[in-house]
Amino acid sequence: MKIVVMGPQGSGKGTQAERIVKEYKIPHISTGDILRKNIADKTPLGKTAKLHIDKGELVPDAVVNDMVQERLGKKDCKKGYLLDGYPRTLNQAKALERYDKVEKVFLLEVPDEVSVRRLSARRQCSTCGKIFGIDIPPKREGVCDSCKGRLFQRDDDMPEKINTRLKEYHKETEPLVGFYGKRIVRLDGTKPIDAVFKEIAKVLEGLR
Ligand code: AMP
Repeated sequence: MKIVVMGPQGSGKGTQAERIVKEYKIPHISTGDILRKNIADKTPLGKTAKLHIDKGELVPDAVVNDMVQERLGKKDCKKGYLLDGYPRTLNQAKALERYDKVEKVFLLEVPDEVSVRRLSARRQCSTCGKIFGIDIPPKREGVCDSCKGRLFQRDDDMPEKINTRLKEYHKETEPLVGFYGKRIVRLDGTKPIDAVFKEIAKVLEGLR
């Protein structure tokens, strides 16, 4: 099971990705998470990535391609994996295709207004990384339900950065729909989380 989950920011791809990996027991490879971890650990890769992420720009293809290929080479990816946030450009998709062939690409579609509304409300736990938002608000404002950690708003979820990221998505990432052709599975990301997951599961059962 080699799959990709793609869609604009705030389309719910992270949420769906978490459910898929839990149900199908495959590694969840989120390039955004790996880059943020490198930034927190102040690695050389993290320092390069921060310069771009802080401006709402994409990290250069070569940097991300190497990082992903190193991750996919690990033993736990032999039976399959889920890529979340990668590939994001045509060059990345081509690099991935040369390395390995993904079977299905789930495309979560939402209008830009929905993305902006969801991202502006998104908060993340500074301790365990759990995400809260419009659909899943925390029980107490600013406090994580699971570990009581402090919730924060990501720098790149600030209103002025959201528009840059959405423009980047439409220009750089949307062309992948043509590249993947019949492997694309279109999903309505404005539907409830459970309804979207059911559609994904139906397709994935066919791959088992
Ligand atoms: P995400 O958490 O997926 O929204 O990623 C956060 C930020 O990390 C993005 O806005 C980009 O700056 C960077 N990033 C994540 N994945 C990629 C990728 N595949 N290619 C380039 N930049 C990426």
